[in-house]
Amino acid sequence: MNAHSRKPFGVDLASQSAAGEEDPGASLEDFAGDSAAPARTALPDSTLPTWSSPMTEPAEHLMDWLRDAHAMEEQAETMLQTASDRLENYPELKAKLQAHLQETREQARLLRECIQRRGGDTSGVKDMAGKMSAMMQGLGARMADDEVMKVAMSCYAFEHFEVATYRILVAAADMAQDTQTRQVCDDILRQEEATAAWLGERLGVLTQEFLVLSRGAGSDAKR
Ligand code: MG
Ligand code: FE
Repeated sequence: MNAHSRKPFGVDLASQSAAGEEDPGASLEDFAGDSAAPARTALPDSTLPTWSSPMTEPAEHLMDWLRDAHAMEEQAETMLQTASDRLENYPELKAKLQAHLQETREQARLLRECIQRRGGDTSGVKDMAGKMSAMMQGLGARMADDEVMKVAMSCYAFEHFEVATYRILVAAADMAQDTQTRQVCDDILRQEEATAAWLGERLGVLTQEFLVLSRGAGSDAKR
C-alpha cells in the first residue's frame, strides 16, 4: 500500500504538492490519507526530521546535561561574585555567598573532569551566554532600591534550579553506569541543597533586617 508509516503526522507534504500540481482539482479526500488515493512516494529517509528518532542513548543525554550543568555553574560563579562583592550591610549573607562561590568554582572544575573523562569538551558558547545573562541579572538587581532582596530571591531560585539539575544528573549517571560521575553529582547535590536550605531559612530574617534598615535615613538598606 502507500507508506503511511513513514510520514510524519501521517501527512506526506512532498507528494501532496506534487499531486496538487498534476491535479489542481484535488479534493479534501486526497489529503485525508484515503486508501483509494493514488500511491504516493514517501519522503527519502534523509529528509525525515531527526526528532522522530527515538535512538538517543542515555550517555548522549548525560553528556548534554553535564555540559548544561557546567554552563550553569559558570553563570552561578558570575552571579555570586557580583552579588557578594556588592553587599555591604548584610555580612552574614555576604559571607555565605562568598563561601558558596568557592564551592561553585570547585563544582565547575569537577564537572569539567567528568565531561573530559567521558570524552567531551567544554568549549564555551553556552557558558558565555550564561555569564552574560548572570551579568544582566546583576544589573537588574542593582537598579532596584531593594537590591539585597532581589539578590536573595534570585539566589534562592537559582539554588533550586541547581538541585533539580543534579537530581537529574544523578539518575542519568546511574543509567549510564558511570559511578564516578554519579558520585560527583551526588556530592554537588548536597552542597546545593544545603545552600538552598540556608537561604530559605534566612529569607524571613533578611526581610525584617531590610525593612528595619529601610526606615532609617540614608540608603544602607539597599545592599
Ligand atoms: Mg552550583
Ligand atoms: Fe549553587
